Amino acid sequence: MSDTIFGKIANGEVSADLVYEDEHVVAFRDLNPQAPVHVLVIPRKPIPTLSAAGTEDAELLGRLMLTAAKVAEQEGIAEQGYRTVINCNAGAGQTVYHLHLHVIGGRPLQWPPG
Ligand code: 5GP
Repeated sequence: MSDTIFGKIANGEVSADLVYEDEHVVAFRDLNPQAPVHVLVIPRKPIPTLSAAGTEDAELLGRLMLTAAKVAEQEGIAEQGYRTVINCNAGAGQTVYHLHLHVIGGRPLQWPPG
C-alpha cells in the first residue's frame, strides 16, 4: 500500500467522507472543496501520477472515469454539468502523489480553468 494520505484513505487507516467504493476505486469528498460538489476518485492501486500509469492500468483508468460519471449522477450534477480534472505533477498543481480525479460541480464553471 502507498504511504500517501490517499493510500491511507483507500485502506481505511484514515477516515474520509466516502461517497462510493468498490474493489478497484474509492471516491470521497475533498477536504478543501472548490465547489459545492468536489469529490476525489482514486484507484486503490497506488499509482503516483497519471504519467506513471501504464497500459496494464488501462481498465483501471476507465473505471476512474466511469466512477466519476456515477458520482456526478449520485450527487445530482450530471445534467447541469460538471468538470473532471487530473492535475499531473507539480507544475499543474498536483500535491498528493496518489493518482486522483477531481469531480467538481454544483456551480457555474469558467473556461479556461487557469
Ligand atoms: P491535487 O492538488 O493533488 O490535484 O489535489 C489534492 C486534493 O486533495 C486537494 O484538493 C486537497 O484539498 C485534497 N486533500 C488533501 N489532503 C486531503 C485529505 O486528507 N482528505 C481529503 N478528503 N482531501 C484531501
